[in-house]
Amino acid sequence: MAKYDLVIIGSGPGGYVAAIRAGQYGLKTAVIEKDSYVGGTCLHIGCIPTKVLLHHAEIYDTFQRAAEFGFEVKDVKVNWPAILARKERIVNKHTKGIEFLFRKSKVETITGWGRVAGPGRVSVEKDGKKTEIETTYTMLATGSDARSLPGVEIDGKTILTNKEILELPAIPKSLVVVGAGAVGVEFASIFRTFGTEVTILEMLPRAVPLEDEEISAELMKAFKKRGIRIETEAKVESVKKDAKGATVVFKTKDGKSESLAAEKVLMAVGRRPMTENTGVDKTAAKLERGFVHTNAYMETAEPRLFAIGDIVAGLPQLAHAASMEGLIAVGLMAGKEVQPFDRMKCPNATYCEPQIGSIGMTEKQARDAGIKIKIGKFPFLGNSKATILGHHEGFIKVVAEEKYGEILGVHVIGPLATEIIAEAVTAISLEATLDDLAAMIHAHPTVWEAMGDAFNAVRGLSINA
Ligand SMILES: Cc1cc2nc3c(=O)[nH]c(=O)nc-3n(C[C@H](O)[C@H](O)[C@H](O)COP(=O)(O)OP(=O)(O)OC[C@H]3O[C@@H](n4cnc5c(N)ncnc54)[C@H](O)[C@@H]3O)c2cc1C
Repeated sequence: MAKYDLVIIGSGPGGYVAAIRAGQYGLKTAVIEKDSYVGGTCLHIGCIPTKVLLHHAEIYDTFQRAAEFGFEVKDVKVNWPAILARKERIVNKHTKGIEFLFRKSKVETITGWGRVAGPGRVSVEKDGKKTEIETTYTMLATGSDARSLPGVEIDGKTILTNKEILELPAIPKSLVVVGAGAVGVEFASIFRTFGTEVTILEMLPRAVPLEDEEISAELMKAFKKRGIRIETEAKVESVKKDAKGATVVFKTKDGKSESLAAEKVLMAVGRRPMTENTGVDKTAAKLERGFVHTNAYMETAEPRLFAIGDIVAGLPQLAHAASMEGLIAVGLMAGKEVQPFDRMKCPNATYCEPQIGSIGMTEKQARDAGIKIKIGKFPFLGNSKATILGHHEGFIKVVAEEKYGEILGVHVIGPLATEIIAEAVTAISLEATLDDLAAMIHAHPTVWEAMGDAFNAVRGLSINA
């Protein structure tokens, strides 16, 4: 029986990053992956392919606005199969990249269904054949899958999840997106840019409900301006296929029943943890609706069994969260000094147009916690680089503690939001104050310098607003 220091089940951004680090620390490591390729949701049907489509949508948008930038561009045609082919090439390139990094760190890959078989034992099943391997530590990194609503059947052709929508043979004329979380608004944004008539139905009172309320309001305003219809407090009652596509019946916030016809429907109503049939339920690990409870070092209640990524209860379902959780767990196994995972230091990035980047407490969370706060806001309208780029909608909002000026939260909607949030990540991770940030020199002209203005805005000292 093969014997490892660490066996990881799942090769997404949680599992593969943990495996590489384990290899770097000299742990004999194997990754079990059910699919014939490594990389998980993120690389194959999540972060990477969607960002390729989004980038192509941005290029198309620039062509549409050519005259504004002093170009005459005629007859721009979208070659959808060529865009999908480029997406495939990028995904394949990075899949090979992970394979190369595994070889470099001496990580073994075993293809098959992984299951925790008992303390220090993991089974792998492939083509009806089961083998067992021994390991000191086991890490469950099996990720998540798209949910649907009761009675709504995903057929993969008309009623879709994030997986099938990435392989559509053509850009649909109309699309109903059920759910206005990160996945929903991202696809709504992409297809609207390519000319699709898009309607979003959201059960809660606002889009991107986990973000600061003002960010949600700004996004809904921007989406409406772009011709995306958003119905909040909408209760979807049925989604049925018909000859022309599908019909979605929903109750509006006023209680009226409305029916919408669309060529395609995307179900973006959240993701369920993939912990069924993994043997975790037979261990001492605590489960809640399929999610695994861990401490901040990713240890479950079962000795030497760790869980990371989308399956962990109460933590964000984000690739970079999964990766950091994996690094913390492996550091602990290798006897290194590690810091616990802190949700408040983990940025959120939503890749729609305009983009959203945020970290830390929203204004409401800070007020509900009884903290005395001050708010600073800076609109991108005052930032010269944003004007040069032709993307000056949105703002940066800073939530700071009143007395010492500690930065508690930063919320950005607008150009390069998912990039410039990096400064706020550093600030919050290092517990920086408004004074520290006011003394920082921001290069000019950059979109990033708007951060400096926003931090100064808390004390009414922003220069450009
Ligand atoms: C459309 C979309 C866009 C997204 N965009 C972003 C983004 O821009 N940024 C971001 O941070 N996050 C994004 N996410 C979320 C991100 O993809 C996930 O948070 C991330 O992939 C979770 O990583 P993971 O390692 O926990 O699981 P996964 O990436 O889901 O990987 C789990 C792996 O485990 C394998 N597996 C499952 N069960 C078994 C088993 N029993 N045996 C063997 N193998 C098994 C699966 O095949 C898979 O390869 C997006 C998600 C979606 C759906």
